[in-house]
Amino acid sequence: MKRTILLGPQGSGKSTQSQLIADTLGVKKVSSSGLLKQLVVEGSDLGKEIEKIMSEGLLIPDKLMIDLFFAELKKPEYANGFLLDGFPRNLVQAEAIDKEYKIDKVFNLEISDEVAIARISGRRVCKNRHVFHVEYNPPRQIGMCDLCDSQLFQRDDDTPEAVAKRLKIYRETTAQLLDYYEKQDKLVIFDGSLGIREVSDMIVDYLKGHVG
Ligand SMILES: [Zn+2]
Repeated sequence: MKRTILLGPQGSGKSTQSQLIADTLGVKKVSSSGLLKQLVVEGSDLGKEIEKIMSEGLLIPDKLMIDLFFAELKKPEYANGFLLDGFPRNLVQAEAIDKEYKIDKVFNLEISDEVAIARISGRRVCKNRHVFHVEYNPPRQIGMCDLCDSQLFQRDDDTPEAVAKRLKIYRETTAQLLDYYEKQDKLVIFDGSLGIREVSDMIVDYLKGHVG
């Protein structure tokens, strides 16, 4: 089980669990957000183009996304396998991957919209991007950052309405993907609404039972 994909909506704990899965399988993970950020920071023409697309709130076109990932995955550090996070986002991208690589398993962290909204809308940040959560990681003093004493606020992206809108789009595009991998008998579903630790334990148990 060397080439895998992790799917899951915002608030499913995907970034935490993706590192755990990659470490357990002994492969490197590559996330779309990490890859895009890296290209933007490098400041190449391509990076500038990506920055422009993202600043307009648009999605990166499929063709560009596919090219970026394939270029990355050709690097020697992925010879042993990989875990993809945030790619594919849709059927076009999934079919492109299948032409190039044999995917062994696709993990889906499933959570309800209610849980996702509760998790994300509880987030508070300060101007220095320190992140807290009203329930899971509250600051010592309500509304103030523990680390830099500035005021905490809710980002526009984190309001229940904004999260609900993103979830709706996510569900619409991902339904096809889940169906696609289910038909290939590759889909493994974990209940992402449990605590991070419990989900981690379930994933590790599964992986240990299936890595041969
Ligand atoms: Zn702060």
